[in-house]
Amino acid sequence: MAKSYETFEKKQLIDRIHYLETQLEHLFKENDQEMFVSFPWAGNLGQWYWFYDTNKVTFNDKKVSSLGYDPNVVGTVGFEFFTSKLHPDDYESVMQHMRNHLKGITEAYEVEYRIQHKDGHYLWYYDRGVVTKRDEKGMPIVLQGIVFDITETKKIEDRLRFLSERDALTNFFNRRTFFEELEKLTQLEKIPFSLIMFDVDHFKKINDHHGHLIGDEVLRRLGAYILSHKHESDHAYRYGGEEFFLILNQKTLEEAIQIAKELHQGISTIKMPLIGHMTVSMGVAHHQQNESIDDLVKRVDDLMYEAKRSGRNTIKFEE
Ligand code: GH3
Ligand code: MG
Ligand code: MG
Repeated sequence: MAKSYETFEKKQLIDRIHYLETQLEHLFKENDQEMFVSFPWAGNLGQWYWFYDTNKVTFNDKKVSSLGYDPNVVGTVGFEFFTSKLHPDDYESVMQHMRNHLKGITEAYEVEYRIQHKDGHYLWYYDRGVVTKRDEKGMPIVLQGIVFDITETKKIEDRLRFLSERDALTNFFNRRTFFEELEKLTQLEKIPFSLIMFDVDHFKKINDHHGHLIGDEVLRRLGAYILSHKHESDHAYRYGGEEFFLILNQKTLEEAIQIAKELHQGISTIKMPLIGHMTVSMGVAHHQQNESIDDLVKRVDDLMYEAKRSGRNTIKFEE
């Protein structure tokens, strides 16, 4: 049964992975006893055989029925029955893996891919096969494989990735993801980008006067505003308590200043519970060639503090 993991916490997800792993182990053991000696495993969807020279393919019924088709109605199916349902983004990689194995470049054909159910949604399959017989010239004669439905595991992986990358209060990416992204931009991709840092003005007073719950709600509303007003290609990060960063991909300092001005103005109009409105102080900088991440972050941080020193509710950047 497909489950919805959006509401699962980390511990529940880890327990679920252990449960699935134990199930898989049992499955292996059961099938060990039933299967051919030459090929002693079967996936949870069963096994497939491909007689390469005659292009005859046999599949376990479950591989067809799990995609929403009645095996008795579809009758004998060929390889295309499955390959035509592959997700367009996975198709070429699956074919390449198969070609590489047929040529003997790889020891096994082993892939994970998305395949479309009759209803239109996609399932994740893990597929592994080997050529078990070649002719004297090395041409494949028979391939045997196994297939697992790994949709549930993939959903858990997605949820775990989401939890490990995000801040629970604002749904912004967290500080670790911020530094990972900066590392990627400066080291691997060498893409020009700008940074905006902002910090809520007198946030401690909001907490002190109205309590932490109101403080939390202020951060949540601020977060929701930023997420719905930032450009799609830009990313928002919660750096600390009430300190945030935006990474603006491919944007010049001038463009970043313009965006900062718009956000700064917009933020002051957000309606907040009890306090009415609040303001932020901002620092804006463009990454300089060969500048280290630490130097860049310090530069923006200094600019932001300059904004605080000059009376708050303002934006600072290097002229
Ligand atoms: P400034 O204008 O100079 O930025 O002053 P400030 O009061 O905003 O800054 P300060 O750094 O002194 O205070 C930040 C406060 O934010 C202190 C901390 O208790 C509070 N805080 C940090 N994280 C959270 C959170 O998740 N929720 C709430 N409600 N408060 C938080
Ligand atoms: Mg502050
Ligand atoms: Mg602060």
